[in-house]
Amino acid sequence: MALKFFNTLSRSVEEFVPRDPQGRSAGLYCCGPTVHDFAHIGNFRTFVFADLARRYLEFKGFSVRHVMNITDVEDKIIQRVRENQTPLRDYTAKYEAAFFQDFQALNCLRPHETPRASEHIADIISLIEKLAARGLAYRAADGSVYFSIEKYQGCGGHYGRLLKLNFEEMRPGQRVSSDEYAKEAAADFALWKARVPEDGAVFWPSPWGEGRPGWHIECSAMSMKSLGPSFDLHLGGEDLIFPHHEDEIAQSEGAGAQAAGEPFVKYWLHGAHLLVEGKKMSKSLGNYFTLRDLLAKGFTGREVRYLLLTAHYRESFNFTLEGLQGARAALARIDECLGKLAEIAAGSEEAPSTADVLQSFTTAMDEDFNVAAAWGAIFEWVRETNRQLAENRIMPAPAATLMTAWQKINQVLGLPPKQENAPEDLVRLLIEREIARKAKDFKRSDAIRDELKAKGWAIEDTPKGSRLKRL
Ligand code: AMP
Ligand code: ZN
Repeated sequence: MALKFFNTLSRSVEEFVPRDPQGRSAGLYCCGPTVHDFAHIGNFRTFVFADLARRYLEFKGFSVRHVMNITDVEDKIIQRVRENQTPLRDYTAKYEAAFFQDFQALNCLRPHETPRASEHIADIISLIEKLAARGLAYRAADGSVYFSIEKYQGCGGHYGRLLKLNFEEMRPGQRVSSDEYAKEAAADFALWKARVPEDGAVFWPSPWGEGRPGWHIECSAMSMKSLGPSFDLHLGGEDLIFPHHEDEIAQSEGAGAQAAGEPFVKYWLHGAHLLVEGKKMSKSLGNYFTLRDLLAKGFTGREVRYLLLTAHYRESFNFTLEGLQGARAALARIDECLGKLAEIAAGSEEAPSTADVLQSFTTAMDEDFNVAAAWGAIFEWVRETNRQLAENRIMPAPAATLMTAWQKINQVLGLPPKQENAPEDLVRLLIEREIARKAKDFKRSDAIRDELKAKGWAIEDTPKGSRLKRL
């Protein structure tokens, strides 16, 4: 079955056909974090969605190249750098490191490339030069360089592809210099911002004098550098549709690097917001939780990931701590069922993954990453499996088959294994094995290893000693 998803460009659900003539590889770019502060879990809803999309594409057999930029030069960052009187890199390094710690705690796969805007100034300048050479960029009285929407439209470009804009209401020649602006203000936007005293030490030389790039051009330059002038998938939260992604299209296609008839991006996917009491979770409203806040309350990255993955990516939903408690309870049901299956399956041969649940999961996910339906199928399977377990009707080989199916499903869901403490009697066996090994009684130590394995536990020998891990 083919994978379909909603393309913001066509406003319809389309089948995914990669640009690769062999139909195998796919380039995916997701706008990354602005490292001005700790990311909140609303931000992470979008990154977990991008991770899910990547994992599912890989599950479907595509070879994905995943790029996520780090926005480390932008209005908010410069303001913070000024307030903190710190060099740019020192300031952003802290939040970038924190971001990747949280990213890992949520078990998101590391993108293949994570370019930083501050390290791509030359690429950004050369892209602006291309736009200037084609007459689409002009220098304003303040020394900044702007993108001319009128000129772009005049030479066949179409501004307003992702969001329908009413050009009658737009005043030609109007300009915005800030990185974020509203739809009503659709106007020429800054590509290069001339240095002002408030920028402090954050500036670079350029053909237009000292200054710094605008936010939108950063993503055009970095995405095309990593994935080429045309690529398959571009993701982000829905707030990025306008102006950020609209501007990315205008700049990237305006520079004309694409082959004739090829778009900058074939599929645009946008994730809905995580809300709090009906309002977008955001720094500016102050209604946010960072992952750190939630870990401090005793929740785990696994529980937060599960919660973020419960709703369909195009539906906004309200975050609550009760919802997170619900995530814990739901995971416990899955874990209990899997724990029992693992015990039964322990010691049986590696099994094929021909379970119905895998089929229902795939059918659901093929339809626009319908995780809600996928979880429905999973919980139905848990219910049925529990019923059969209660009646002792599952034999080792079928249990192994079900475990393999779950492992395949979980390659997509990415739930990290539960950190489970082994029962006390097994820990005692582990200690006994240590003693046997020290006494060079390898027969006994091997026998204990086998006994533990039969009970569903593996021994991991670490430099700090050995410990037990669920098979
Ligand atoms: P930023 O670090 O502000 O550039 O945002 C990083 C990503 O988080 C972007 O893709 C945003 O669209 C996304 N984002 C911001 N707030 C939310 C939210 N409340 N729910 C989901 N995604 C969000
Ligand atoms: Zn971007």
